[in-house]
Amino acid sequence: MTPGMTLLSDIDRPAFEVVNPDGRAPVIFVSDHDSNAVPACLDDLGLAPADLARHIGYDIGIARVARHLAARFDAPLIASGYSRLVCDVNRVPYSPASIPEISDGTPVPANRGLHADDRRARYDALFHPYHGAIANLLDARVRTGARPLFVGLHSFTPRLVSAPADRPWEIGFLWAEDAATSAQTMALFRRLFPDVCVGANQPYSGSSPQGYTMDVHADRRGLSNLCLEFRQDLIGDDAGGDLWADRFGDALAELLRTGTGD
Ligand SMILES: [Zn+2]
Repeated sequence: MTPGMTLLSDIDRPAFEVVNPDGRAPVIFVSDHDSNAVPACLDDLGLAPADLARHIGYDIGIARVARHLAARFDAPLIASGYSRLVCDVNRVPYSPASIPEISDGTPVPANRGLHADDRRARYDALFHPYHGAIANLLDARVRTGARPLFVGLHSFTPRLVSAPADRPWEIGFLWAEDAATSAQTMALFRRLFPDVCVGANQPYSGSSPQGYTMDVHADRRGLSNLCLEFRQDLIGDDAGGDLWADRFGDALAELLRTGTGD
């Protein structure tokens, strides 16, 4: 790209979407890996559409889950508008995973040897607007004295090339500072759905330094928070997305009723 050029043009979708901005629930949902869109000028990053449609492109199924939950709880949702392969908004800028040259074994041609100007253009167009929107929404809520529960929504692939054993659970929870809210929610979930396998996620965890969103927006503000991942094959169609959103939603409703211990 020419220096000074912007990444997004008139034909591109916005960098992020805010659903239900005035939602009244004491909850804010965020979806970092909501979409596999690529800005037109990046020409699908040199990837085949089939690769962008895999988990390396986005969190399969999570867009439906996130919107279902935002509607059910009358809560705001902020969703990133572009593929994590363009710029992973849940990674520290300039870290290797932020704009990956290889993702789960698949080379990403347009990310190889990226010029500093092009790297900055992606952060300016995608990363900073998304996180700015989350910060603004939180600032506005906190100013009114609210302490919203911050919920990060993801999906995961049961099998990673880099970790060949299948991951058996249906929902995984990740946390760093706020272990208590995850523990409370997992206990509520297990009581409601004893046949569902819920657990602390592997091979990475919320305390891993590679995450960004939960750390910056929730832990540093001292907000109660949950970060969870649904197994992608369970939520791959609309019916599955709605079913699993409601299962988690039932546990979340109970958590909000009993209080997060904040
Ligand atoms: Zn994700």
